[in-house]
Amino acid sequence: MLCPYCGFDESNVLESRDAQEGRATRRRRECIRCQKRFTTYEKVGNIELKVIKKDGRVEDYQRQKLERCFEKACWKMSEEERTKLIDEIEMKLLNWPSVEIPSTEIGKMVMERLKGIDPVAYIRFATIYLNITSVDGFEKLVSDYKTKQGGKKDGGQK
Ligand SMILES: [Zn+2]
Repeated sequence: MLCPYCGFDESNVLESRDAQEGRATRRRRECIRCQKRFTTYEKVGNIELKVIKKDGRVEDYQRQKLERCFEKACWKMSEEERTKLIDEIEMKLLNWPSVEIPSTEIGKMVMERLKGIDPVAYIRFATIYLNITSVDGFEKLVSDYKTKQGGKKDGGQK
């Protein structure tokens, strides 16, 4: 379990308790290197979550669906890296206050993570996951992305 602050992989467990009616274990941890505290959720088997789709339909959460999107969007990553990313996303899902979560929120979580790693994969993931089929939709996505980047850009070539 990597420390979310410094990335160190050893931590002390301060407290463990069941979450999601025994389907996951919530652990309070303290990083051995930077001493910051964080919470992890470690799942046992499948997590019980419902996904609310854009059209309002509700379906069971499927890890495979995320895996497929990741495979297409992040083919440059190793399978190990992808698995790690999906585990991180699932941890966030378990932190979600409700067992029903809108698919757009899942998309946002993934995109937040990808943005820092691989902006092109981020755009690709967004088009696949949010099912963007029109050029307008794609342009909006790219311009949203640029807007969010804000002042961070070097302002160079136009
Ligand atoms: Zn740390």
